[in-house]
Amino acid sequence: MAWNADLKLDPASGTPVYRQIADAIVAACRDGRLSPGMRLPPTRDLARRLHVNRNTVVAAYEALAADGIVTSHTGRGTFVAEPVAAPAPARAETGDAWPSGFSRAVEGSALAGLLSAYRVATSSEGISFAGSYPAAELMPVERFRVALDAVLARSGAEVLSYGSTAGYAPLREWIAGAMRGRGSDVSADGILITNGSQQALELVFRTLLDRGDPVVVEEPTYTGALSVLGSLGARMVGVALDEEGMRPDLLAVALERHRPRAIYVQPTIHNPTTRVMSRRRRLDILALAERHGCAVVEDDWACDLRFEGEELPALHALDGGRRVIYLSTFSKKLLPGLRVGWAAAPRPVLERLVALKQVADHGSSPLLQAALQEFLRDGGLEEHLARVRPAYRERRDIMLAALGARFPGGVSWTRPQGGLFLWVTLPEGVDGNDLFVAARDRNVLFSRGGLFHSDGSGQGSLRLTYASVAPARIEAGVAVLGSLIRERLAGAAAGPGPRAADGLPIL
Ligand code: PMP
Repeated sequence: MAWNADLKLDPASGTPVYRQIADAIVAACRDGRLSPGMRLPPTRDLARRLHVNRNTVVAAYEALAADGIVTSHTGRGTFVAEPVAAPAPARAETGDAWPSGFSRAVEGSALAGLLSAYRVATSSEGISFAGSYPAAELMPVERFRVALDAVLARSGAEVLSYGSTAGYAPLREWIAGAMRGRGSDVSADGILITNGSQQALELVFRTLLDRGDPVVVEEPTYTGALSVLGSLGARMVGVALDEEGMRPDLLAVALERHRPRAIYVQPTIHNPTTRVMSRRRRLDILALAERHGCAVVEDDWACDLRFEGEELPALHALDGGRRVIYLSTFSKKLLPGLRVGWAAAPRPVLERLVALKQVADHGSSPLLQAALQEFLRDGGLEEHLARVRPAYRERRDIMLAALGARFPGGVSWTRPQGGLFLWVTLPEGVDGNDLFVAARDRNVLFSRGGLFHSDGSGQGSLRLTYASVAPARIEAGVAVLGSLIRERLAGAAAGPGPRAADGLPIL
Protein backbone atom coordinates (compact mmCIF):
# COMPACT_ATOMS: atom_id res chain seq x y z
CA MET A 1 0.00 0.00 0.00
CA ALA A 2 1.30 3.47 -0.83
CA TRP A 3 2.60 5.17 2.30
CA ASN A 4 0.10 8.02 1.93
CA ALA A 5 -2.97 6.03 0.84
CA ASP A 6 -4.72 6.35 4.20
CA LEU A 7 -3.19 9.67 5.25
CA LYS A 8 -5.92 11.81 6.84
CA LEU A 9 -5.17 15.39 7.75
CA ASP A 10 -7.01 17.14 10.52
CA PRO A 11 -6.93 20.92 10.07
CA ALA A 12 -8.68 21.36 13.43
CA SER A 13 -5.98 19.47 15.32
CA GLY A 14 -3.50 21.40 17.44
CA THR A 15 -0.70 19.94 15.31
CA PRO A 16 0.07 22.09 12.26
CA VAL A 17 -0.80 20.41 8.96
CA TYR A 18 2.80 20.44 7.73
CA ARG A 19 3.81 18.59 10.91
CA GLN A 20 1.04 16.03 10.39
CA ILE A 21 2.44 15.33 6.92
CA ALA A 22 5.98 15.10 8.27
CA ASP A 23 4.82 12.76 11.06
CA ALA A 24 3.07 10.52 8.55
CA ILE A 25 6.30 10.24 6.56
CA VAL A 26 8.27 9.44 9.72
CA ALA A 27 5.69 6.75 10.59
CA ALA A 28 5.99 5.28 7.08
CA CYS A 29 9.78 5.19 7.48
CA ARG A 30 9.39 3.39 10.78
CA ASP A 31 7.05 0.68 9.57
CA GLY A 32 8.91 0.10 6.32
CA ARG A 33 6.42 1.57 3.84
CA LEU A 34 9.18 4.04 3.00
CA SER A 35 12.79 2.91 2.92
CA PRO A 36 16.13 4.66 2.41
CA GLY A 37 16.67 5.94 -1.09
CA MET A 38 12.95 6.07 -1.97
CA ARG A 39 11.81 9.23 -3.63
CA LEU A 40 8.94 11.19 -2.09
CA PRO A 41 6.28 12.58 -4.43
CA PRO A 42 6.99 16.03 -5.85
CA THR A 43 5.57 18.68 -3.53
CA ARG A 44 3.11 19.82 -6.17
CA ASP A 45 1.66 16.31 -6.62
CA LEU A 46 1.39 15.59 -2.92
CA ALA A 47 -0.23 18.97 -2.28
CA ARG A 48 -2.82 18.26 -4.96
CA ARG A 49 -3.53 14.81 -3.57
CA LEU A 50 -3.90 16.09 0.00
CA HIS A 51 -5.79 19.27 -0.98
CA VAL A 52 -3.33 21.52 0.79
CA ASN A 53 -1.21 24.46 -0.29
CA ARG A 54 2.05 23.40 -1.90
CA ASN A 55 3.98 25.48 0.67
CA THR A 56 2.58 23.24 3.40
CA VAL A 57 4.19 20.20 1.76
CA VAL A 58 7.39 22.18 1.19
CA ALA A 59 7.43 23.02 4.92
CA ALA A 60 6.94 19.34 5.79
CA TYR A 61 9.82 18.27 3.54
CA GLU A 62 12.02 21.03 4.92
CA ALA A 63 11.31 19.98 8.49
CA LEU A 64 12.21 16.39 7.59
CA ALA A 65 15.36 17.52 5.81
CA ALA A 66 16.38 19.53 8.87
CA ASP A 67 15.96 16.37 10.95
CA GLY A 68 18.08 14.38 8.51
CA ILE A 69 15.18 12.09 7.58
CA VAL A 70 15.08 13.13 3.94
CA THR A 71 17.49 14.88 1.60
CA SER A 72 16.45 17.21 -1.20
CA HIS A 73 18.30 17.63 -4.46
CA THR A 74 17.52 20.38 -6.89
CA GLY A 75 16.17 18.84 -10.05
CA ARG A 76 16.09 15.27 -8.68
CA GLY A 77 13.61 15.41 -5.86
CA THR A 78 13.40 14.49 -2.20
CA PHE A 79 14.59 11.11 -0.95
CA VAL A 80 14.37 9.16 2.29
CA ALA A 81 17.80 9.47 3.87
CA GLU A 82 18.61 7.39 6.88
CA PRO A 83 17.44 3.90 7.69
CA VAL A 84 14.98 4.13 10.56
CA ALA A 85 14.74 1.19 12.90
CA ALA A 86 11.33 -0.20 13.76
CA PRO A 87 10.63 -0.04 16.58
CA ALA A 88 13.30 2.59 17.21
CA PRO A 89 15.32 1.49 20.25
CA ALA A 90 15.98 5.14 20.93
CA ARG A 91 12.34 5.66 21.87
CA ALA A 92 12.36 2.74 24.21
CA GLU A 93 15.63 3.86 25.81
CA THR A 94 14.59 7.43 26.39
CA GLY A 95 10.96 6.63 27.15
CA ASP A 96 7.92 7.95 25.35
CA ALA A 97 6.64 9.51 28.54
CA TRP A 98 9.01 12.47 28.54
CA PRO A 99 6.59 15.37 28.95
CA SER A 100 8.21 18.40 27.44
CA GLY A 101 9.54 17.47 24.01
CA PHE A 102 12.97 17.46 22.42
CA SER A 103 14.91 19.59 19.99
CA ARG A 104 14.44 18.69 16.35
CA ALA A 105 18.04 17.48 16.17
CA VAL A 106 17.18 14.50 18.41
CA GLU A 107 13.48 14.04 17.83
CA GLY A 108 12.06 10.63 16.90
CA SER A 109 13.66 9.18 13.85
CA ALA A 110 16.42 11.85 13.82
CA LEU A 111 17.63 10.26 17.06
CA ALA A 112 17.31 6.74 15.68
CA GLY A 113 19.35 7.84 12.66
CA LEU A 114 22.12 9.32 14.82
CA LEU A 115 22.28 6.31 17.12
CA SER A 116 22.25 3.85 14.27
CA ALA A 117 25.08 5.71 12.57
CA TYR A 118 27.29 5.37 15.63
CA ARG A 119 26.37 2.02 17.13
CA VAL A 120 29.47 -0.05 16.85
CA ALA A 121 29.76 -3.79 16.61
CA THR A 122 30.94 -5.32 19.86
CA SER A 123 30.49 -9.01 19.11
CA SER A 124 33.75 -10.71 19.98
CA GLU A 125 32.75 -13.70 17.85
CA GLY A 126 32.15 -11.70 14.72
CA ILE A 127 34.54 -10.24 12.20
CA SER A 128 34.13 -6.52 11.92
CA PHE A 129 35.29 -4.57 8.89
CA ALA A 130 33.14 -1.71 10.16
CA GLY A 131 34.25 1.48 11.89
CA SER A 132 37.64 2.96 11.08
CA TYR A 133 39.83 1.98 13.96
CA PRO A 134 43.57 1.61 14.28
CA ALA A 135 44.92 -1.76 15.42
CA ALA A 136 44.48 -2.07 19.19
CA GLU A 137 47.26 -4.65 19.57
CA LEU A 138 49.78 -2.23 18.04
CA MET A 139 48.99 0.63 20.41
CA PRO A 140 52.03 1.96 22.30
CA VAL A 141 50.37 1.47 25.67
CA GLU A 142 53.51 1.06 27.76
CA ARG A 143 55.29 4.02 26.25
CA PHE A 144 52.23 6.19 26.77
CA ARG A 145 52.02 5.04 30.41
CA VAL A 146 55.60 6.18 30.94
CA ALA A 147 54.75 9.61 29.47
CA LEU A 148 51.64 9.85 31.64
CA ASP A 149 53.57 8.95 34.78
CA ALA A 150 56.26 11.48 33.93
CA VAL A 151 53.86 14.41 33.59
CA LEU A 152 51.98 13.44 36.74
CA ALA A 153 55.23 13.19 38.69
CA ARG A 154 56.58 16.45 37.32
CA SER A 155 53.53 18.68 37.22
CA GLY A 156 50.60 16.76 38.68
CA ALA A 157 48.59 19.63 40.12
CA GLU A 158 49.02 21.70 36.98
CA VAL A 159 47.81 19.02 34.56
CA LEU A 160 45.00 18.01 36.89
CA SER A 161 43.64 21.56 37.01
CA TYR A 162 41.53 23.33 34.42
CA GLY A 163 43.71 24.22 31.48
CA SER A 164 43.62 26.76 28.71
CA THR A 165 40.50 26.47 26.54
CA ALA A 166 42.54 26.64 23.34
CA GLY A 167 44.75 23.79 24.49
CA TYR A 168 47.99 22.90 26.27
CA ALA A 169 50.54 25.40 24.94
CA PRO A 170 53.47 22.97 24.36
CA LEU A 171 51.17 20.62 22.41
CA ARG A 172 49.92 23.50 20.25
CA GLU A 173 53.59 24.37 19.64
CA TRP A 174 54.38 20.81 18.63
CA ILE A 175 51.45 20.64 16.22
CA ALA A 176 52.25 24.01 14.66
CA GLY A 177 55.86 22.86 14.19
CA ALA A 178 54.72 19.63 12.53
CA MET A 179 52.42 21.54 10.19
CA ARG A 180 55.19 24.01 9.31
CA GLY A 181 57.32 21.01 8.46
CA ARG A 182 54.72 20.19 5.81
CA GLY A 183 54.68 23.69 4.37
CA SER A 184 51.86 25.35 6.33
CA ASP A 185 52.23 28.89 7.55
CA VAL A 186 50.93 28.55 11.11
CA SER A 187 51.95 29.31 14.66
CA ALA A 188 50.81 27.83 17.96
CA ASP A 189 48.25 30.58 18.54
CA GLY A 190 46.53 29.53 15.32
CA ILE A 191 45.80 26.05 16.72
CA LEU A 192 42.84 24.92 18.80
CA ILE A 193 43.00 21.52 20.51
CA THR A 194 39.68 19.68 20.36
CA ASN A 195 38.19 16.46 21.69
CA GLY A 196 38.96 14.52 18.54
CA SER A 197 38.55 16.10 15.15
CA GLN A 198 34.87 15.22 15.48
CA GLN A 199 34.57 18.14 17.88
CA ALA A 200 36.61 20.30 15.54
CA LEU A 201 34.08 19.55 12.79
CA GLU A 202 31.20 20.49 15.03
CA LEU A 203 32.82 23.73 16.26
CA VAL A 204 33.88 24.76 12.76
CA PHE A 205 30.47 24.19 11.20
CA ARG A 206 28.76 25.82 14.17
CA THR A 207 31.03 28.81 13.66
CA LEU A 208 30.34 29.09 9.94
CA LEU A 209 26.72 28.04 9.46
CA ASP A 210 23.22 28.90 10.56
CA ARG A 211 20.25 26.54 10.23
CA GLY A 212 19.33 26.07 6.58
CA ASP A 213 22.65 27.39 5.25
CA PRO A 214 24.08 25.45 2.32
CA VAL A 215 27.41 23.66 2.59
CA VAL A 216 29.17 21.72 -0.16
CA VAL A 217 30.26 18.19 0.71
CA GLU A 218 31.94 15.50 -1.33
CA GLU A 219 29.45 12.81 -2.37
CA PRO A 220 30.10 10.42 -0.64
CA THR A 221 31.79 11.75 2.49
CA TYR A 222 32.53 10.98 6.13
CA THR A 223 29.39 9.94 8.05
CA GLY A 224 30.35 11.89 11.15
CA ALA A 225 30.51 15.13 9.17
CA LEU A 226 27.08 14.42 7.69
CA SER A 227 25.73 13.85 11.22
CA VAL A 228 27.14 17.14 12.46
CA LEU A 229 25.76 19.01 9.49
CA GLY A 230 22.39 17.27 9.84
CA SER A 231 22.14 18.12 13.53
CA LEU A 232 22.94 21.77 12.78
CA GLY A 233 20.19 21.85 10.13
CA ALA A 234 22.66 22.68 7.35
CA ARG A 235 21.61 22.11 3.76
CA MET A 236 24.07 19.67 2.21
CA VAL A 237 24.94 20.07 -1.44
CA GLY A 238 26.72 16.93 -2.62
CA VAL A 239 29.38 17.17 -5.34
CA ALA A 240 30.54 13.95 -6.98
CA LEU A 241 34.18 12.81 -7.14
CA ASP A 242 36.15 11.42 -10.04
CA GLU A 243 39.55 9.74 -9.91
CA GLU A 244 41.26 13.05 -9.04
CA GLY A 245 38.84 14.14 -6.32
CA MET A 246 35.89 16.55 -6.17
CA ARG A 247 34.82 17.48 -9.71
CA PRO A 248 35.53 21.17 -10.32
CA ASP A 249 32.89 21.50 -13.06
CA LEU A 250 30.17 20.36 -10.65
CA LEU A 251 31.66 22.38 -7.80
CA ALA A 252 31.53 25.53 -9.94
CA VAL A 253 27.81 24.96 -10.59
CA ALA A 254 27.10 24.23 -6.92
CA LEU A 255 28.94 27.38 -5.82
CA GLU A 256 27.12 29.48 -8.37
CA ARG A 257 23.71 28.07 -7.56
CA HIS A 258 23.83 27.67 -3.78
CA ARG A 259 26.38 30.27 -2.66
CA PRO A 260 27.58 28.14 0.28
CA ARG A 261 29.81 29.50 2.97
CA ALA A 262 31.97 26.40 3.11
CA ILE A 263 33.23 23.38 1.17
CA TYR A 264 34.12 20.30 3.23
CA VAL A 265 36.82 18.11 1.68
CA GLN A 266 39.24 15.33 2.53
CA PRO A 267 41.97 15.63 -0.10
CA THR A 268 44.21 12.86 1.23
CA ILE A 269 42.84 9.31 1.61
CA HIS A 270 39.25 10.39 1.37
CA ASN A 271 36.89 8.60 3.75
CA PRO A 272 35.24 6.46 2.43
CA THR A 273 36.55 6.22 -1.16
CA THR A 274 40.29 6.37 -0.25
CA ARG A 275 40.95 8.71 -3.18
CA VAL A 276 43.83 11.15 -3.06
CA MET A 277 43.12 14.50 -4.67
CA SER A 278 45.65 15.35 -7.38
CA ARG A 279 47.81 18.45 -7.03
CA ARG A 280 46.09 20.09 -9.97
CA ARG A 281 42.67 19.40 -8.45
CA ARG A 282 43.76 20.86 -5.12
CA LEU A 283 44.63 24.09 -6.90
CA ASP A 284 41.35 24.04 -8.86
CA ILE A 285 39.28 23.70 -5.68
CA LEU A 286 41.18 26.53 -3.99
CA ALA A 287 40.77 28.78 -7.03
CA LEU A 288 37.01 28.16 -7.11
CA ALA A 289 36.72 28.79 -3.37
CA GLU A 290 38.62 32.03 -3.83
CA ARG A 291 36.45 33.15 -6.71
CA HIS A 292 33.26 32.55 -4.71
CA GLY A 293 34.51 33.87 -1.37
CA CYS A 294 33.96 30.51 0.22
CA ALA A 295 35.80 28.82 3.12
CA VAL A 296 37.38 25.40 2.70
CA VAL A 297 37.23 22.95 5.58
CA GLU A 298 40.04 20.46 5.03
CA ASP A 299 39.82 17.21 7.01
CA ASP A 300 43.29 15.66 6.93
CA TRP A 301 42.54 12.69 9.17
CA ALA A 302 45.03 10.31 7.52
CA CYS A 303 48.02 12.55 6.85
CA ASP A 304 50.64 10.34 8.53
CA LEU A 305 49.08 7.09 7.46
CA ARG A 306 50.27 6.94 3.89
CA PHE A 307 52.38 3.95 3.06
CA GLU A 308 52.61 4.53 -0.70
CA GLY A 309 52.49 7.30 -3.26
CA GLU A 310 53.73 10.84 -3.46
CA GLU A 311 53.19 13.13 -0.47
CA LEU A 312 51.08 16.08 -1.64
CA PRO A 313 50.77 19.42 0.11
CA ALA A 314 47.67 20.05 2.19
CA LEU A 315 45.23 22.65 0.88
CA HIS A 316 46.15 24.63 3.98
CA ALA A 317 49.78 24.74 2.86
CA LEU A 318 48.89 25.63 -0.74
CA ASP A 319 46.58 28.45 0.29
CA GLY A 320 48.82 29.95 2.95
CA GLY A 321 46.12 29.33 5.57
CA ARG A 322 43.96 32.20 4.35
CA ARG A 323 40.64 30.55 3.61
CA VAL A 324 41.36 26.96 4.59
CA ILE A 325 40.39 25.71 8.02
CA TYR A 326 42.49 22.62 8.59
CA LEU A 327 41.46 19.72 10.86
CA SER A 328 43.39 16.68 11.90
CA THR A 329 43.58 14.13 14.68
CA PHE A 330 45.80 11.79 16.68
CA SER A 331 43.01 9.19 16.66
CA LYS A 332 43.92 7.19 13.61
CA LYS A 333 47.68 7.54 13.57
CA LEU A 334 48.05 7.00 17.31
CA LEU A 335 45.41 6.58 20.03
CA PRO A 336 41.71 7.37 19.51
CA GLY A 337 41.07 7.10 23.23
CA LEU A 338 43.03 10.28 23.90
CA ARG A 339 40.33 12.17 22.02
CA VAL A 340 42.84 14.73 20.80
CA GLY A 341 42.35 16.45 17.48
CA TRP A 342 42.86 20.02 16.35
CA ALA A 343 41.82 22.84 14.09
CA ALA A 344 44.20 25.34 12.49
CA ALA A 345 42.37 28.44 11.39
CA PRO A 346 42.88 32.12 10.56
CA ARG A 347 42.62 34.38 13.59
CA PRO A 348 38.98 35.58 13.26
CA VAL A 349 37.82 31.99 12.91
CA LEU A 350 40.04 30.67 15.68
CA GLU A 351 38.77 33.30 18.10
CA ARG A 352 35.22 32.10 17.53
CA LEU A 353 36.16 28.45 17.69
CA VAL A 354 37.76 29.04 21.09
CA ALA A 355 34.62 30.82 22.30
CA LEU A 356 32.45 27.87 21.25
CA LYS A 357 34.94 25.38 22.70
CA GLN A 358 34.61 27.24 26.00
CA VAL A 359 30.82 26.86 25.79
CA ALA A 360 31.15 23.18 24.88
CA ASP A 361 33.54 21.91 27.55
CA HIS A 362 35.99 24.51 28.98
CA GLY A 363 38.84 22.81 27.14
CA SER A 364 40.21 19.32 26.55
CA SER A 365 41.92 17.35 29.31
CA PRO A 366 45.26 19.00 30.25
CA LEU A 367 46.50 15.67 31.63
CA LEU A 368 46.05 13.80 28.36
CA GLN A 369 47.36 16.67 26.27
CA ALA A 370 50.47 16.97 28.43
CA ALA A 371 51.10 13.22 28.34
CA LEU A 372 50.66 13.23 24.57
CA GLN A 373 53.08 16.11 24.21
CA GLU A 374 55.64 14.28 26.35
CA PHE A 375 55.18 11.19 24.16
CA LEU A 376 55.57 13.23 20.96
CA ARG A 377 58.59 15.14 22.24
CA ASP A 378 60.38 11.87 22.94
CA GLY A 379 59.84 10.58 19.39
CA GLY A 380 57.00 8.20 20.27
CA LEU A 381 54.96 9.02 17.18
CA GLU A 382 57.73 8.31 14.66
CA GLU A 383 58.45 5.02 16.36
CA HIS A 384 54.76 4.09 16.35
CA LEU A 385 54.27 5.08 12.71
CA ALA A 386 57.29 3.01 11.72
CA ARG A 387 55.47 0.04 13.23
CA VAL A 388 51.91 0.60 12.03
CA ARG A 389 52.50 1.74 8.45
CA PRO A 390 54.04 -1.57 7.29
CA ALA A 391 51.47 -3.51 9.33
CA TYR A 392 48.60 -1.65 7.67
CA ARG A 393 50.15 -2.08 4.26
CA GLU A 394 50.44 -5.81 4.89
CA ARG A 395 46.80 -6.02 5.99
CA ARG A 396 45.73 -4.02 2.96
CA ASP A 397 47.60 -6.49 0.74
CA ILE A 398 46.03 -9.45 2.50
CA MET A 399 42.60 -7.94 1.97
CA LEU A 400 43.34 -7.15 -1.68
CA ALA A 401 44.49 -10.72 -2.26
CA ALA A 402 41.40 -12.11 -0.51
CA LEU A 403 39.10 -9.88 -2.55
CA GLY A 404 40.80 -10.99 -5.74
CA ALA A 405 40.39 -14.63 -4.79
CA ARG A 406 36.90 -14.56 -3.26
CA PHE A 407 34.86 -11.83 -4.90
CA PRO A 408 33.13 -12.56 -8.20
CA GLY A 409 33.72 -10.58 -11.37
CA GLY A 410 31.81 -7.34 -11.56
CA VAL A 411 32.79 -6.26 -8.03
CA SER A 412 35.48 -3.58 -7.95
CA TRP A 413 37.51 -2.05 -5.14
CA THR A 414 40.12 0.60 -4.49
CA ARG A 415 43.80 0.06 -3.73
CA PRO A 416 44.37 2.67 -1.02
CA GLN A 417 47.75 4.37 -0.69
CA GLY A 418 47.30 4.51 3.06
CA GLY A 419 44.76 4.67 5.84
CA LEU A 420 42.68 1.96 7.37
CA PHE A 421 40.10 0.72 4.85
CA LEU A 422 39.16 0.28 1.23
CA TRP A 423 36.00 0.96 -0.76
CA VAL A 424 34.09 -1.66 -2.69
CA THR A 425 31.61 -1.12 -5.53
CA LEU A 426 29.03 -3.87 -6.00
CA PRO A 427 27.73 -5.00 -9.36
CA GLU A 428 24.22 -4.28 -10.59
CA GLY A 429 21.70 -6.53 -8.84
CA VAL A 430 23.50 -6.67 -5.46
CA ASP A 431 22.14 -4.31 -2.83
CA GLY A 432 24.55 -3.22 -0.07
CA ASN A 433 21.80 -3.02 2.57
CA ASP A 434 20.59 -6.51 1.80
CA LEU A 435 24.17 -7.77 1.86
CA PHE A 436 24.71 -6.06 5.21
CA VAL A 437 21.78 -7.86 6.81
CA ALA A 438 22.86 -11.24 5.40
CA ALA A 439 26.50 -10.70 6.45
CA ARG A 440 25.46 -9.62 9.93
CA ASP A 441 23.55 -12.89 10.26
CA ARG A 442 26.86 -14.63 9.48
CA ASN A 443 28.71 -12.45 12.05
CA VAL A 444 30.52 -10.32 9.51
CA LEU A 445 30.09 -6.56 9.67
CA PHE A 446 31.01 -3.74 7.34
CA SER A 447 30.07 -0.11 6.81
CA ARG A 448 27.25 0.30 4.31
CA GLY A 449 27.84 2.80 1.52
CA GLY A 450 24.56 4.54 2.28
CA LEU A 451 26.00 5.91 5.53
CA PHE A 452 28.38 8.10 3.58
CA HIS A 453 25.89 9.68 1.21
CA SER A 454 23.94 12.85 1.82
CA ASP A 455 21.40 11.99 -0.88
CA GLY A 456 20.12 8.61 0.32
CA SER A 457 22.09 6.71 -2.33
CA GLY A 458 25.13 4.46 -1.87
CA GLN A 459 23.39 1.06 -1.75
CA GLY A 460 25.87 -0.17 -4.34
CA SER A 461 28.96 0.30 -2.23
CA LEU A 462 30.56 -0.65 1.06
CA ARG A 463 33.62 0.18 3.11
CA LEU A 464 35.86 -2.55 4.51
CA THR A 465 38.37 -1.75 7.24
CA TYR A 466 41.49 -3.92 7.27
CA ALA A 467 43.74 -2.10 9.75
CA SER A 468 42.08 -3.36 12.94
CA VAL A 469 41.43 -6.92 11.73
CA ALA A 470 43.90 -9.78 12.21
CA PRO A 471 45.09 -11.22 8.86
CA ALA A 472 43.41 -14.64 9.28
CA ARG A 473 40.11 -12.98 10.06
CA ILE A 474 40.42 -10.74 7.00
CA GLU A 475 40.51 -13.81 4.79
CA ALA A 476 37.64 -15.53 6.61
CA GLY A 477 35.41 -12.44 6.55
CA VAL A 478 36.07 -11.70 2.88
CA ALA A 479 35.25 -15.34 2.06
CA VAL A 480 31.82 -14.95 3.72
CA LEU A 481 31.12 -11.70 1.85
CA GLY A 482 32.27 -13.24 -1.43
CA SER A 483 29.88 -16.17 -1.10
CA LEU A 484 26.98 -13.89 -0.15
CA ILE A 485 27.64 -11.68 -3.17
CA ARG A 486 27.76 -14.73 -5.45
CA GLU A 487 24.44 -15.96 -4.04
CA ARG A 488 22.88 -12.59 -4.72
CA LEU A 489 24.23 -12.39 -8.23
CA ALA A 490 22.80 -15.83 -8.95
CA GLY A 491 19.47 -14.77 -7.40
CA ALA A 492 19.40 -11.52 -9.38
CA ALA A 493 19.91 -13.48 -12.60
CA ALA A 494 17.06 -15.82 -11.64
CA GLY A 495 14.43 -13.88 -9.74
CA PRO A 496 13.07 -10.73 -8.05
CA GLY A 497 15.22 -7.91 -6.76
CA PRO A 498 16.71 -7.67 -3.28
CA ARG A 499 14.47 -7.08 -0.31
CA ALA A 500 14.72 -3.69 1.35
CA ALA A 501 16.85 -3.88 4.46
CA ASP A 502 14.92 -3.63 7.69
CA GLY A 503 15.97 -1.60 10.71
CA LEU A 504 19.62 -1.40 9.85
CA PRO A 505 21.84 -0.65 12.79
CA ILE A 506 25.38 0.55 12.83
CA LEU A 507 28.46 1.92 11.77
N1 PMP B 1 37.20 12.89 10.07
C1 PMP B 1 37.20 11.71 9.44
C2 PMP B 1 37.29 11.68 7.95
C3 PMP B 1 37.08 10.53 10.17
O1 PMP B 1 37.07 9.35 9.53
C4 PMP B 1 36.97 10.59 11.57
C5 PMP B 1 36.79 9.37 12.43
N2 PMP B 1 36.38 8.24 11.81
C6 PMP B 1 36.99 11.85 12.17
C7 PMP B 1 37.11 12.98 11.39
C8 PMP B 1 36.85 12.03 13.64
O2 PMP B 1 37.77 11.31 14.38
P1 PMP B 1 38.25 11.74 15.82
O3 PMP B 1 37.14 12.51 16.47
O4 PMP B 1 38.52 10.46 16.53
O5 PMP B 1 39.45 12.59 15.63
